[in-house]
Amino acid sequence: MKNISVLGSTGSIGTQTLEIVRDNDDLKVVALAAGKNADLMEKQAREFLPAIVAMYDENAAKDLKERLKDTNIKVLSGMDGVICAACAKDAEIVVTACVGMIGIRPTIEAIKCKKDIALANKETLVTAGHIVMKLAKDNHVNIYPVDSEHSAIFQSLKSEPHNRINKILLTASGGPFRGKTLEEMKDMHVEDALKHPNWSMGRKITIDSATMVNKGLEVMEAGWLFDVSLDKIQVVIQPQSIIHSMVEYVDGGIIAQLGVPDMKLPIEYALFYPDRRPMNTPKVDFFKLGCISFFEPDLVNFRALKIAYEVGKRGGSLPTVFNAANELAVAKFLDRKIGFTKITDIIEYCVNNSKNIENPTVEQILETEVQTYEMIESMKI
Ligand code: NDP
Repeated sequence: MKNISVLGSTGSIGTQTLEIVRDNDDLKVVALAAGKNADLMEKQAREFLPAIVAMYDENAAKDLKERLKDTNIKVLSGMDGVICAACAKDAEIVVTACVGMIGIRPTIEAIKCKKDIALANKETLVTAGHIVMKLAKDNHVNIYPVDSEHSAIFQSLKSEPHNRINKILLTASGGPFRGKTLEEMKDMHVEDALKHPNWSMGRKITIDSATMVNKGLEVMEAGWLFDVSLDKIQVVIQPQSIIHSMVEYVDGGIIAQLGVPDMKLPIEYALFYPDRRPMNTPKVDFFKLGCISFFEPDLVNFRALKIAYEVGKRGGSLPTVFNAANELAVAKFLDRKIGFTKITDIIEYCVNNSKNIENPTVEQILETEVQTYEMIESMKI
């Protein structure tokens, strides 16, 4: 029996993780945490009977406590509650699937409690990679990537010598606006941006895929996870999303991981590593697929990717500025307060107007987030 704690259980990755638990009776949920969806959390709590559930939102927690008063489940609230779920006594592995920088503190505390991490929350490594990776090493904690590209790289690196990596080929579908110009994207609506051609994901990451910010965050995430310089990470557009990423070695040999675009595969791989479990999902049919095509990323019309490389290489607090600016800009776009192309404009403005702090502490990272939000609120958009 493997005991797991799921942070962000009501979201896209969280609910798929729980589907995997349903299919595998040697997984036991000991804690769940989410933001404010008390309806779904109540259902999950009644089905999986964890010892602890936490809602970040105080009102949602109050509501949930009332709903679950006939059970022995402990209902907690706020950041402290989410951290308790991350550090739940019996949890062996924590799935970090909250969206955004809110994932930093629970992930750090889980590592300090020596829990392995199935990492979906890429924002944690982008902003605090220098802290998280060192902490994981010091505490002998494994970080298993859940992001499909990083899971593919992880699988392609298995038992190969690290000093023989030539480059990482990080694949990208190109999102719903692949091939469009900035001018054409100016008039895109929320509904257009939410129509990802291959993946069904949460709203924020779907918008991030449309701007290519997601790929930029993934480049930075890969740098931390696999200890490679960003110069050695090349983004390759591959619209079919069948090759989930590749590693090229010094002899020119390339190892790739392929599969249908289904997040359950990397989630399950992270949970059961190094085992592989049978999965009742469609398999790649190469004859139906016919071909897999490749393109260079368009860094002019999708300049967020270019900015991501720049801030990733400079490091310090700039990746936090990039990430925080994106989080607020995406929220504003989803609220229909700004147009689609403004997301990248806002990121660029914040990056260009922020002071970089070398080696920021967690407190400085969180302060940088707040300062970036304030900068955006004072902008004339
Ligand atoms: P969703 O938006 O679908 O879900 C987000 C989850 O985070 C929800 O459970 C939400 O709870 C919870 N949450 C929001 N705010 C808080 C908070 N303050 N405290 C605790 N929990 C909170 O996101 P996804 O599942 O799509 O993405 C989650 C993470 O995984 C992101 O970092 C994303 O980049 C990454 N990822 C996602 C992939 C995907 O296929 N979806 C693929 C690869 C990576 P509630 O709804 O109750 O408010």
